[in-house]
Amino acid sequence: MYDYDLLVVGSANADLVIGVERRPAAGETVLGGDLAVHPGGKGANQAVAAARLGARTALLARVGDDAHGRLLLDSQRASGVDTVGVLVGGAPTGVALITVDPSGDNSIVVSPGANARLAPADVRAAVSLFLTSRVVSAQLEIPLETVVEVVRNLAEGSRFVLNPSPPRPLPTEVLAACDPLIVNEHEARVLLGDSAVGEEPEDWARLLLAKGPRSVVVTLGAEGALVCDSSGVTRVPSVKVDAVDTTGAGDAFTAALAWKLGAGSALADAAAYAARVGAAAVTKRGAQESYPTASEVDAL
Ligand code: ATP
Repeated sequence: MYDYDLLVVGSANADLVIGVERRPAAGETVLGGDLAVHPGGKGANQAVAAARLGARTALLARVGDDAHGRLLLDSQRASGVDTVGVLVGGAPTGVALITVDPSGDNSIVVSPGANARLAPADVRAAVSLFLTSRVVSAQLEIPLETVVEVVRNLAEGSRFVLNPSPPRPLPTEVLAACDPLIVNEHEARVLLGDSAVGEEPEDWARLLLAKGPRSVVVTLGAEGALVCDSSGVTRVPSVKVDAVDTTGAGDAFTAALAWKLGAGSALADAAAYAARVGAAAVTKRGAQESYPTASEVDAL
C-alpha cells in the first residue's frame, strides 16, 4: 500500500573541499590542493543511505539549475533514490566551502542557496509523496516553517523522524510529532539549554522526552546510542571498528533507524541496526561514498 519506505525532506549541498597546509587568516590568501566536489547535505545523505540499504526512498528537496544540482540528482539516482520530488531552480544549489588542514581541522562556509527556498507550498504540492510514504524524516538545513508544514501534511498512520541539525528551538507542534527525535550531544545541549548542564546522556533523553516527542534517541559516536520512550531508557552498544572518517555517520544512522522502524522493528532493535550502519559508515572516507549496503552491514 505504501510506494516508499522512506520520504526524506531536507537539504542537498555540493561540498567543495580543498586541503591546505594552513587555513587562511583574515585578508590572507593561501594555496591549496586540488578541489574535490562531493554530493552532501543532510537530506541528500539520508536518502542515499536509506536507498543503499534497500529502502524504497524518495527525496523532497530543492537544488539549483546548475552543475552542482545535476551532480546531486545523479548521485541520488545512482543510489536508487526516486527524485520525482526534487525541485530545480529558484536559487543556486546549496554549497559548503570547506578547507581542511593536515590535522583534520576545517573551516566551513555554507551557502544554503536553493535549500532556503524549499517552501511550505512545495510541501503541500508534494501531498502524493506524503500519502504514499510509511516514514517521513527531516532535518533543519531547510526553513523551519517548511518542517512545520511537513508535520501538518503527515498521512494518517505514517511516522515522523527528526534530526534537529543544525539545532534551534522547536515549536511544540513539531516536537509532538517526533517518533523519535534523534540528537547528538551538541544538539541535546542546545535544545535543553541550562537544564542540560551537569546531566548525563540518560538524563538528556528523559528531559527531551518531557518536551513532547513520543520517543528520543541520543547518538554518542563511538559509544553507540541510547533510546528513550515511555517505558524508559535503553543503551544501544556500538560496534567496534577502526574509524577513519566520521563525516555523515549521523545521517546514515538516522536513515537506517527510520527504515527499520517503518519495517516494524522496536525502537531499541532499530537503533541497534542503525548503530551497525553508523559504524560501517565511519570505516570509509566521505559521507555518501561511505554508506554501506545491507549485505555490508550484515558482514560487519
Ligand atoms: P555527524 O554529525 O558526524 O554525521 P553525529 O554527531 O550526528 O554525526 P554520531 O553520534 O557521531 O552522530 O554517530 C552516529 C552513530 O554512528 C553513533 O550512534 C554510532 O552508532 C555510530 N558511530 C559513530 N562513530 C562511531 C565510531 N567511531 N565507532 C563506531 N560507531 C560509530
